[in-house]
Formats: sequence, C-alpha cells, structure tokens
Amino acid sequence: MSKKAFVSREQVEKIAQQYPTPFYLYDEKGIRENAKAVKEAFSWNEGFKEYFAVKANPNPRLIEILRGYGCGNDCSSLTELMLSKAMGLDGTDIMFSSNDTPDEEYAYANEIGAIINLDDITHIEFLDRILNGHFPETMSCRYNPGGVYEVCNGIMDNPGDAKYGFTKEQMFEGFRMLKERGVKYFGIHAFLASNTVTNEYYPMLAGDLFRLAVELKKEIGVEIKFINLSGGVGVAYRPEQTANDIYEIGAGVHRVYDEILVPAGMGNVAIYTEMGRFMMAPYGAVVTKAIHEKHTYKEYIGVDACAVNLMRPAIYGAYHHITVLGKEELPCDYVYDVTGSLCENCDKFAIDRKLPKIDRGDYLFIHDAGAHGYSMGYNYNGKLKCAELLLREDGSVELIRRAETPKDYFATLDGFEIYKKMGF
Ligand SMILES: *Cc1c(COP(=O)(O)O)cnc(C)c1O
Repeated sequence: MSKKAFVSREQVEKIAQQYPTPFYLYDEKGIRENAKAVKEAFSWNEGFKEYFAVKANPNPRLIEILRGYGCGNDCSSLTELMLSKAMGLDGTDIMFSSNDTPDEEYAYANEIGAIINLDDITHIEFLDRILNGHFPETMSCRYNPGGVYEVCNGIMDNPGDAKYGFTKEQMFEGFRMLKERGVKYFGIHAFLASNTVTNEYYPMLAGDLFRLAVELKKEIGVEIKFINLSGGVGVAYRPEQTANDIYEIGAGVHRVYDEILVPAGMGNVAIYTEMGRFMMAPYGAVVTKAIHEKHTYKEYIGVDACAVNLMRPAIYGAYHHITVLGKEELPCDYVYDVTGSLCENCDKFAIDRKLPKIDRGDYLFIHDAGAHGYSMGYNYNGKLKCAELLLREDGSVELIRRAETPKDYFATLDGFEIYKKMGF
C-alpha cells in the first residue's frame, strides 16, 4: 500500500506563510472517521468505551474531537488528570492507569472521581492509607501473565520482563483484599503487546481476560463490571504493512465474548479500550523544510525539525515514512540520511532512505506522528518545541498549540537573576 500525505505542497506553502516550519499538522477528517469506526466496531457491547491514552497526544483540542464520539481519557500522571478535569470530564470518563504512582496522584485521582486501575498488589495498602480506608465503589487491577505473549503472525512482546501488573495469583488475592475493603465493582486490565499490526491481538487478549474474569467471579464472588483491553493496537508505519481493520478486531472480540462471557452469565460486562496510537498516529504529521544538503561519506538532507519534535526514530530506530511534497510522482532514485540539528548522531528521521531528489526549500511530510510524537518531545540542545496545527474538514487551518519561545524555555529560572538579564 502506498502512503499518501493528507496535504499538498501548495497547501503547505500557504500554511507556512503564516506558521513557519517545522510544525505538527493534524487531519480532522481522518481523526473523526477513525473515531466513528472504533465506536461502530464495538457498538455490539452496550457499555463500550474508548479511554483515549492522553500520553499519546495531550492536545485538548484534539481530545475534544474524540469526546464527540464518546471517548473518555486514560491518564498516567497528575498533569494528565488536571487536563482532563479542566476539560470537564466526569469522574467515570477518566481512567487512571499509572504505575509507580506517587501519593498525591492517587489522592487527586480519587478526589476527581477517576477510576483507579492499580498496577500492583502492594498499592492496595498504599491506597488504603491515602484514602483512610474509604475505597471507591469501583476499582480495577492490571494483570500480567508473565512469559512471552505471541500473536499468530509472530508479533510478540515480553510481559515477563515488563514492570507492569499483578501476577495471576496476586489478581485473586488483590480482588479478595479489595472486596474486604468494601469495593463493589471490579475491572480487569492488561496491556501485553505494543503496536500490534494484526487483527488477532485484541481478540486473543480478550479471550485470556474473559477466562480470568470467569474464574475470578466464581472463586471470589465479585462483580466484574468491565474488561479493559488497554492500548497496543498498532498502525502501519511502513508502506508494505497492511493496516489493522478495527471492524474485524471488534467482531473478533465479540466472538470470544459470546463464547466465554455470555455462557457464564456475564453478558453485561463492558469492554473498555485505552488506544492512543491507533486513534491518532496516522492523522498527525511533522511538516519540515529541507534547509541543507551535505555531501560527505554519505548524502545528507538537513531539515528544520529535529528529534526534539519527534523522538521515535532517534530512541527506537522507529520507521516513519517520508513524502517529499510535490514530488509524489517522481522516482525514488536518491538515497539520503534525513537529519535534524541536534549534537547527537541518532538525530535522523531516516537512514539510507530511497527518496526523490530533494532540493533546499522542499517540504517533507513525516507520516504517522500523531501519537507519541509531540508529547514525547524534549528540550535537548535548548531546542524549542514547535506549534501544532489542525487542518479542519473545510480546509482551513487552526493553531491548536503555539510554538515554544525562549521565554518558555527559561521560565523555570523565573525569579533568578539570570532571567532578569534576558529582559523578559
Ligand atoms: C501507553 C499506554 C496506552 C496507549 O498505548 P498505545 O500503544 O498508544 O495504544 C494505553 N494504556 C496504558 C496503560 C499505556 O501505558
């Protein structure tokens, strides 16, 4: 499958007159169509809810779009909870799936009525102390079966090496402890494989969690209110990959639901998801301009974005497809490293990538940056984070986060002598 940019060179030239590159550009139409498809794919389940993983993209304007399709927020930190609260989310619209959680984050999550998903059995007593024994009615626990998790097409991950979750034994003990402390409704959560590009992952995970739910109900006598399949549904970063089909994924989960939960008299259990990548990655791009070409032992194109804007290639060696806008139809008969300006040799958006001939001033569209992109950014080398723009369905462009300025960068020195000398 070929990957197409959702803007043309002409559009970007116009946008760049008002907002200089680099910038993030999001496709409202794509976000909406996908969110609608997710909702439809799970509409067979009455209580279904997608809790968008805020860490994937904490822009409130984009989250607001998802809200229109019934999505809640999955939060992992104090600031994500604060953002959700300020956006007017109701308690049960917020899932708090954190780990290694500090006191004040639990206290705040409880104060705003978020559903707390515990990462570890020792957190039950930890929380007991913070809440003075007053547990909320509904609590959730994160399960980790250990070992290696393998999906049919060979994609696998290594839960046994992961820091998250309760062991199976601890799930039973934990539910018992929570029941003793007055908890009435229970949730089960697991995140066992990341960026799965296969329609098998959710149905397989659902089967495992449904069987566990039946056992937990039978043995502990608790009411299971929801099963949270969490994130991990991937996107086709590479053009040769076949994208996941959310309708097939939803139907696969439906089949195991009917096989396992319905016969156990648990046909009222809600399915929750916490997708981040699948909801947003394909609908965001980094748009950057080629500012240098360098010919040494290799051919380099230097762009005005760097790993500060999009870190995934630098830290994971992640592939992000690149389209040279306006040159979509030209042959890819050049081989380039596309680099940013950090003093780090890993600051490359592409290595030995076949691309059409790139000239200075060309705009590069770096695909699939809508999740774990802007939010993962940092400020190394004192580089500033760029603006975020929304390409509306009517073709207009809206600034949804301004670019950082030096004043933002130095703001934590506010009150120190040096800050005054800079004349802010
Ligand atoms: C990161 C994360 C997600 C989202 O993962 P994606 O791969 O972006 O779908 C969901 N839940 C939890 C607890 C996470 O840590």
